[in-house]
Amino acid sequence: MDPNSQTDGIPAGAFGEWLAGFRASLLGNRGSDVPCGECRGCCISGYSVQIRPHDEQARALIPAKLLVSAPGFARNELTMAARPDGTCPMLHNNECTIYRNRPQTCRDYDCRVFAAAGLAAGGSDKAVINRRVCEWRFSYPTQSDRAAHAAVKAAATFIATKRSSFPGQRAPAGPTGIAVLACKTYAVFLAPDIQQRPDEEVARRILAASRKFHHI
Ligand code: SF4
Repeated sequence: MDPNSQTDGIPAGAFGEWLAGFRASLLGNRGSDVPCGECRGCCISGYSVQIRPHDEQARALIPAKLLVSAPGFARNELTMAARPDGTCPMLHNNECTIYRNRPQTCRDYDCRVFAAAGLAAGGSDKAVINRRVCEWRFSYPTQSDRAAHAAVKAAATFIATKRSSFPGQRAPAGPTGIAVLACKTYAVFLAPDIQQRPDEEVARRILAASRKFHHI
C-alpha cells in the first residue's frame, strides 16, 4: 500500500483528524463514523461482538439464546458469537437488522485503525477486511499529520516486536490490540530522542500513556 497516494483507493480522511476522532471514540466520547459503503467486512469475519451493560436496546433486540457470558469479560458483559460461516447472527441479506440499535462495539469498530498501524486485520478469515485496509488512503494536509502517522506505525512496530520489554510481557499480541494501543500511545514516538531510549523505558512510557484510557 502506498500511504501517500491520493488518487487510488478509498479516502480515509486527514490522518490527524481521523486519529483525534478515533481516540475520542476510545475514550467513549463518540462512535466512529466510517464510510463503509457496501463493505460488511466486520460483520462477516468471525468476530464475537461484545455487548456491554449500556447496550440496552441491542440486548432487547438480540435473541437471548445468542447472548452468553464469556471468559475475559466482566460478569455483566455478554458476547454474541458469529455463525459458523463467520457472519454475525444479526446480519440478514447483507444488512444489519439492528443497525440503529447496534452495540457500542459495532459503533466503535473502524478498520482504518489497521491502515493507520500498517497492519493486516488478521489471517484468511479477515480477508475482506484486509482488502479494505489496503484500499484506505489517508491524506496529510499538514506535516503533523505525517508525523502522527509515522508515530502510530512506529508504536505498532515496537509493540509487535518488543513484547519482552513490557513488564510480564503485558502487551497485546493480536493485530487489533496492537493497533489500538499504538493509536492510544503514539505521542511517545513523537519525542525526538525516543530511538535512543532503552526498550524497557519506551515500554514503560507506552504503558503510562495508555493509562488515560483505562477507565473504559
Ligand atoms: S450487530 Fe450489526 S453491525 Fe454489529 S457485527 Fe452484527 S450485523 Fe454487524
